[in-house]
Amino acid sequence: MNEDDVTAPDRLRWWLSLLETTEADELDCEAVFDLLENAVEAVNAGEDIAQLFPAVALHLHHCPSCQDLFDTLVALAGSPTA
Ligand SMILES: [Zn+2]
Repeated sequence: MNEDDVTAPDRLRWWLSLLETTEADELDCEAVFDLLENAVEAVNAGEDIAQLFPAVALHLHHCPSCQDLFDTLVALAGSPTA
C-alpha cells in the first residue's frame, strides 16, 4: 500500500489531459493577438515559443495572417531603433 503508486500515474494522466486540451482548444486570432507581444519578446530573447506558448505556436502554424503579423513584429522588435 504505497500512496506514491497511486498518485504518480494520476499526475501523468492529468498532465497528458492538459496537453490534449491545449491541442483541442486552439486559440482564436484575438487570443493569439493578446499573447503575440509576449511571444515576440520571447523569440527575440532567444526563447522557443513552441515551448513557452505552445498554443500560440500552434495557431501560427495554421493561420497565415497571424504568422505574417508575428514575423513583422519579430522583425520590428529585433531591429535596433537608434
Ligand atoms: Zn490567426
